[in-house]
Amino acid sequence: MVESTAFHFATALLPQGWHSDVRVSVADGTISAVHIGVAPEPSDERIAIGLPAMGNLHSHAFQRAMAGLTGLRGPGADSFWTWREWMYRFVAKLTPDDVEAIAALAYVEMVEAGYGRVGEFHYLHHDIGGHAFVDPAEMAVRIGAASQTAGIGLTLLPVFYAQGGFGGVPAGEGQTRFLTNPDSYTRLIEASRRAMAPLTGAIVGIAPHSLRAVTSDALAAVLPLADAHPIHIHIAEQVREVEDCVAWSGQRPVEWLFDHAPVDASWCLVHATHMTAEESARLAASGAVAGLCPVTEADLGDGLFPAVDYRKAGGAWGAGTDSNVAIDLADELRLLEYGQRLHHRGRNLLAEVDGSVGRTLFVEALAGGTRALGAEAGLVVDLPADWITLDADHPALVGRTGDAILDSFIFAAGRRLIDGVWLGGRRLVTGGVHHHRDVVTARYIAVMQRLLTA
Ligand code: ZN
Repeated sequence: MVESTAFHFATALLPQGWHSDVRVSVADGTISAVHIGVAPEPSDERIAIGLPAMGNLHSHAFQRAMAGLTGLRGPGADSFWTWREWMYRFVAKLTPDDVEAIAALAYVEMVEAGYGRVGEFHYLHHDIGGHAFVDPAEMAVRIGAASQTAGIGLTLLPVFYAQGGFGGVPAGEGQTRFLTNPDSYTRLIEASRRAMAPLTGAIVGIAPHSLRAVTSDALAAVLPLADAHPIHIHIAEQVREVEDCVAWSGQRPVEWLFDHAPVDASWCLVHATHMTAEESARLAASGAVAGLCPVTEADLGDGLFPAVDYRKAGGAWGAGTDSNVAIDLADELRLLEYGQRLHHRGRNLLAEVDGSVGRTLFVEALAGGTRALGAEAGLVVDLPADWITLDADHPALVGRTGDAILDSFIFAAGRRLIDGVWLGGRRLVTGGVHHHRDVVTARYIAVMQRLLTA
């Protein structure tokens, strides 16, 4: 079947706001024209409601396979740290084929949820037992292949992981598959860039894992490898991490980073949950993106990001699915607002006066995602033809126009409203289901049956 090359949206969210009768022309997967207030041509594909596809700025794809398996209460106090031990045991068993199969399903689910690009914070570099692959980018190649299967854009963020704790504590047994030094990391980045070059729109940034996992000298050594591409780092996710950082350096993690690294708009500080008002103001002023992952942060008991104050200071932020315990854009945005409501005991907190919360969350997450992933997004000429369509006949949308559509999507009905997703001008989702879901699911089930009985 020949893909349509022109689409007519009854209503669509453009950078300048909602518009009716929007005609979008597409050539070679890119938007070639946008006309507003025009009637459809007979050959146009007709769409009721269109939204730009969203960037998912933080994912560890393989962790999708652990979703629902870490809910058994242990003998002590369960926490992020006990969850991490479970994750280390799981990751120790994964082959490249396993990782590709799991990532393919995670990415199919991301596309179904309305994500058009993923920032894969990729730290599983070595073979079982920590042995090096012949090709240092072996696992990166598998991530790239999974993204191709799902049709999702990829910003690959190979992780630099060199130590087990602040101040050069040696890495532990569970971390051997992640480790590089500045020299081997340089080879990994070079090999990853070669491997991703044939993938349309793929970007390779860098990701020092966290201040726990890199020394200050090694951090300085690897930063030039970014070469104007995104730099992502986990930071201040856990109170114990903040305490350990203070014990090591006398400074809190975000404070330390700003005093020791040239943090600017090319950076994404993932989580940044535990900040003083001063740290939050520095982050906001820097132009760096706060990479918020509300569902995972709730699952792991991390804490609440100071979103109200951070937004007031003009801080940029975007959303990520992180552990992929659930893959749902509407869930992430809803939980971000709801966390603030529960904390501040108020409503409609993440919006300006007379502004819709849903619209504000969606638009700000879109902007932060594009900055953090190094790729523009939106229904704009010369950008990839990536968009989501909503089911205008769903009861949750009866009588809704404009921003009420986004408030209903995020707070009332969620992903059930997504009926179509187009990426690069190709329709990948119909009726909420990815066209490759069956094949990808069958492969995933076979992998999981072996992993869970081994
Ligand atoms: Zn993470």
